[in-house]
Amino acid sequence: MARLSIQKVHVGEKDTNCYVIACAETKEAVVIDPGGDAPKILSQLDGLNVKWIAFTHAHPGHTGAKDEVKSATHGTTAMHLADATTYLKSAERYLLSTDTLPFGQFALEVLITPGHTPGGLSYKVGNHVFTGDTATVPIRLSAPSELETRISGSVRPA
Ligand SMILES: [Zn+2]
Repeated sequence: MARLSIQKVHVGEKDTNCYVIACAETKEAVVIDPGGDAPKILSQLDGLNVKWIAFTHAHPGHTGAKDEVKSATHGTTAMHLADATTYLKSAERYLLSTDTLPFGQFALEVLITPGHTPGGLSYKVGNHVFTGDTATVPIRLSAPSELETRISGSVRPA
């Protein structure tokens, strides 16, 4: 089994966690949430072949360096359609819960985790789950009706 390499890159004004995940054997990689500071992200991609540029959600702090990373790496951009339409972003692939994003000897599993945004996604590979801002949403509810209130309250503009 090949080794998975995971690097966290702090980017942008909001100090977003961008991740570079690579198959150490094949050097194929995924970039999750390139939110800003494209040169800083690109400096982590030396020798890697970026297959995917995947977004947990489409808030500007998570998508700010999308176009620069895309043009430098030619990875395929991917997000949920609901976020693309809500935040007027675009991607080459709109993801469903059945999708997996293969890279090297690994694949990211797509998990649909709305709440923070309508089209929030998390990505799972091995024992790791990348949640973006979804994990900031409380999930303990005292009544089912509370869910709607919490979801609408958690959909923030940034
Ligand atoms: Zn957010």
